[in-house]
Amino acid sequence: MGATGIIYKAWQNTPRPIIYNTADGKGNPIKTECKFLDPLGHPKYDAKWHGNCLICGAESQGGIPYKALLGSSYTDWSRHKCPESDHICPACAFTMMLNTASHRCCLFRYSFVADKQLHICNRKEMRDYLINPPEPPFVMAVAVSQKKHIAFKSMVSYDRENFFCNLEEEQIQVNRQEAKDIISVCEALRGIGFTKDEISAGRIRFDKIKKFKLDAYDKINHLLRSIIGTRLFALCLFVAQKMSEEDAICFLGLTLKTVPLPQGHCSSTRHTKAAMSKEDHLDTICGNKSSVSPAGQQNGQMTFPTF
Ligand SMILES: [Zn+2]
Repeated sequence: MGATGIIYKAWQNTPRPIIYNTADGKGNPIKTECKFLDPLGHPKYDAKWHGNCLICGAESQGGIPYKALLGSSYTDWSRHKCPESDHICPACAFTMMLNTASHRCCLFRYSFVADKQLHICNRKEMRDYLINPPEPPFVMAVAVSQKKHIAFKSMVSYDRENFFCNLEEEQIQVNRQEAKDIISVCEALRGIGFTKDEISAGRIRFDKIKKFKLDAYDKINHLLRSIIGTRLFALCLFVAQKMSEEDAICFLGLTLKTVPLPQGHCSSTRHTKAAMSKEDHLDTICGNKSSVSPAGQQNGQMTFPTF
């Protein structure tokens, strides 16, 4: 079964209402209902037609004439698997139909994961699926512009450790552990105040690291250079959330210049690339409570005579 077949079947198996957890203009969490149209209810649906689908090429009993679905703004003609056909199968039609009666609901507006059911996802939920994919087979896609048909351009994945996730129209090969590591670096950098644009460009601003010891630049640079520029990085950065500053400092192996840190507060269980690759991380608080706290206190005390 192709990607749209899995998506359509997943939708059929999904209890209603299908809820999308998002936020309003002020950032308050809200739930919206996704009312996708049933292709079998399309006025031009022809149950008697039999042939290969224009878009996915799969053999199908029943379909919708393409002229009833694809408007003048449609530009994906070169992507069709069976260009000689004049009908679109219900599965492909499902991913393209716009419900004008319900906030123009259509699958292309959403990031989603389709396994046995269809999950409409916000960025946080997509992040969690990248780190912890469902049982295969599944289809995973992230919508950025929310204007392009990405479902029929996505791929079916059969492995939880190495799988595919579309970022818009681009099929990105994902290694789960690698994605997890990259997401952690992005979330840690956001935790110490970096913006996604800065992370994407590899820009390390002095004003955001000046409170840390001088090796901060090298540590961050080392982590960023090893991941930046790949398409997997772009995908991970898009879905990345934000660590608490305390966890981020721990993860990145940074040390504040003078202010003593609370002792033993690394609540994160993540293993850092910095910690694994740097020998000089032992003077941080991360995972080394006993040797760290006296140094931290000492630093704090050393500032007192200046008052
Ligand atoms: Zn099709």
